Amino acid sequence: VSNRRQDLGAALWQLGDLVRADEQRRSFRAKAYRRAVWSLDDLSSDLDDPPHVMRAVRGIGPGIIRLIEEFRQTGRIGDLDRLSSLYPRDVARLRRLPRMTAETLRQLKAELGVETGSDLIDAVGSGGDETLRGVGPATAEKWERVLRLAPTAEATPAFDAQVLAGDLSRHLERHLSGEAFATGAVRRLDEWVDRIDLVWVTEDFDHARVFRTETAVARPVSVSNGPGPLCLATHGGVPVAVHLARLRERGLNLLVTTGPPSHAGFIVGEWHGEAQTETELYQARGLGWVPPPARQLPLASSLGVIRSSDLRGDLHVHTEWSPDGRMSLQAMLAEAVARDYEYVLVTDHTTGLRFGGMDGNALIRQHETIEAARLRFPDLVILHGAELNADREGNLDVDDESLGILDLAVVGLHSHFDLDRDEQTARVLRALGHPSVRVLAHPTGRRIGIRPAIDLDLDEVIAGAIEHDVALEVNGHRDRLDLSAPLAAHAVRAGALLALNSDAHRVGELRNIDNAVGTGQKAGVGAGSVINTLPWSGLVEWLKRQPRT
Ligand SMILES: [Zn+2]
Ligand SMILES: [Zn+2]
Repeated sequence: VSNRRQDLGAALWQLGDLVRADEQRRSFRAKAYRRAVWSLDDLSSDLDDPPHVMRAVRGIGPGIIRLIEEFRQTGRIGDLDRLSSLYPRDVARLRRLPRMTAETLRQLKAELGVETGSDLIDAVGSGGDETLRGVGPATAEKWERVLRLAPTAEATPAFDAQVLAGDLSRHLERHLSGEAFATGAVRRLDEWVDRIDLVWVTEDFDHARVFRTETAVARPVSVSNGPGPLCLATHGGVPVAVHLARLRERGLNLLVTTGPPSHAGFIVGEWHGEAQTETELYQARGLGWVPPPARQLPLASSLGVIRSSDLRGDLHVHTEWSPDGRMSLQAMLAEAVARDYEYVLVTDHTTGLRFGGMDGNALIRQHETIEAARLRFPDLVILHGAELNADREGNLDVDDESLGILDLAVVGLHSHFDLDRDEQTARVLRALGHPSVRVLAHPTGRRIGIRPAIDLDLDEVIAGAIEHDVALEVNGHRDRLDLSAPLAAHAVRAGALLALNSDAHRVGELRNIDNAVGTGQKAGVGAGSVINTLPWSGLVEWLKRQPRT
């Protein structure tokens, strides 16, 4: 079963991926194609709406209308044919690999016949990478490591799955009556997702079933209308299961589809009634609600995990003073107040970054700006920090005199990811020893599906962090989640303190801190192990523990 609108959706989706790889930067065209896919359900399924009707649909501009015309007349899109003959089929995944360029992607396809990640692993394994210009064995080996970190070739990184689940939920809510919730692996904050699960709360199951077969944003996987979820696949190939639930069954559906089965099975037990909320079900067991990421823990440890409401502030936030920052200090502070924070640490990038950052003079200028802002936000403690870079040897990229004006600093590694374990560990330990440094940002540097972790003796780093009163970050950026849950659990067992941070570069990203909290929950971490659950008075005490020279 498919209709024209669905076929066009698939074509525009793929075209977006191809254009993004081809243009090798933030591509407005790619964005427009992707946005158009989400708008196609506002058109008729035959795409025969008159132009003035099309133009009135948000996301459908003149360029998209021309493509629709072309597609209606020829059944094809010329640009798509041209680009898909040049690039591997799985370009969306492959383009994110370390040092991957458009030219390399084209070469991989033309010279080695690479279409997918497993093709690339095979090509690398057979030494085929030597035929690629400008690709050394170290890079090829990194590709392989990143690809092999995925549990299966089909798994989707949490980052993409969260975005897709959010887009799909909003899409359903716009076109159907009711409310959508992401559950399953996305809600549990798994790093890799095999399937996106959504609970669709509605009283109109028939409408939802029809919509499933007609929507342009995904394809129905089977047409059976029996019990069980509605199964679809996104045009990128990600399986989606939409679980239909009436409002009075919502809680039960959320619990069961979030899993894992052992936890859900225990909580549901012999329950036969209805439950609009999960809380009712936990209460029936005499328990408090357990946050989804903690549900794979033994029940006893899941009950005491940290909650978002335990946080008193964020210790890693960028503003426009960073080259990649996209929010003003003012906007960030307003959001921090809206989130009810007691304090926030401003941590813009310093000079050692590949694309530049603030030097000592800039820090002094920023200090004045922050002092002015303190007058406008009297109820918020605005801490002046920076995200310093450690060079190859672990020296900081700002002189001590300039560092003296900061309240505390975060240090991160943004270069030399390939040092061997001894060098890398020594480098981190040296940086941790600097008295201004109180948080180690994204300690392993891994980016899920994009970049492997650096080679580090984590036990030595944990010992160094404890010795120097440095908190290890759990970075909530969706493709980092770094420390990961297992490493965060390990660090806490060893006695280290964590800092759960957003690393936000734009206002909307301040909520990434929830991913850091979720990672802490998955790790079974309690609020007492997290430095930014301290009230301001407590944080001050902690800061005093390492007097600056
Ligand atoms: Zn960083
Ligand atoms: Zn940062």
